Amino acid sequence: MPELPEVETTLRGLKPWLVGATITEVKVRQPALRWPVVDNLPDLLIGQVILCMGRRAKYLRLSLKNGSLLIHLGMSGSLRLLSANEPWRKHDHIEVVVHTGKRIRYHDPRRFGSWSWTFNEHHQLTNLGPEPLSTHFDGNHLYRLGRGRKLPVKNFIMSSEIVVGVGNIYAAESLFRAGIRPDRSAGRISLKRYIALSQHIKAVLRTAIEQGGTTLRDFVDSVGDPGYFKQQLKVYGRHGRPCTVCKAPLKLTRLGQRSTVFCNRCQT
Ligand SMILES: [Zn+2]
Repeated sequence: MPELPEVETTLRGLKPWLVGATITEVKVRQPALRWPVVDNLPDLLIGQVILCMGRRAKYLRLSLKNGSLLIHLGMSGSLRLLSANEPWRKHDHIEVVVHTGKRIRYHDPRRFGSWSWTFNEHHQLTNLGPEPLSTHFDGNHLYRLGRGRKLPVKNFIMSSEIVVGVGNIYAAESLFRAGIRPDRSAGRISLKRYIALSQHIKAVLRTAIEQGGTTLRDFVDSVGDPGYFKQQLKVYGRHGRPCTVCKAPLKLTRLGQRSTVFCNRCQT
């Protein structure tokens, strides 16, 4: 599943080609995504200049003069930058062409992604916690919001109203690096440990962004390179294998329907 690093990598790959460009063509071959793509999307976009492009949580936002387009990659979506009109592949659903001839094509086998248009504010973006790489997110923030909370810390840091974009892989990896058991109650973690955890979350996400994300199978970044962060995972997907620190076999547990791997010795 594309996580924050993949979305950020996609943004960085596409932005230089799209910002300031005028949209000349829009083709929607399959409008049945998670929510139906509006029928008049081509009319709304053609002739418009892309004023800016950004990311909030796992959403990509293209701002135009008359409104904005919010793209979510869902479970299996990806955006590819093409220089010419290449043949459409199976599961290629939407294409946007700009005046320079560059085009982005949206590919999504499972169709859980979305392309939504609005003239005002996107309701999907309300009630979201801070961006993990911003200064609004730190150990104090986690400590303050964690007081009195019984839910496991892994579920806590994966809640989008607490902080956005900390997916399953990054939550497990940051908790291991901070030495915190994933099933410990959010309310029973000291400020000092939350400071360490917030720093590890930032470091893990930054490294993953630099390396283009983790999802080697589903994700291809905008220039076609797969993500390499996967090679640095210490716990995720390593159940039963030796801990990289103490060599004890890593344990598997389930928290909130998600499998979680951790070290019973190094994480307390
Ligand atoms: Zn260990």
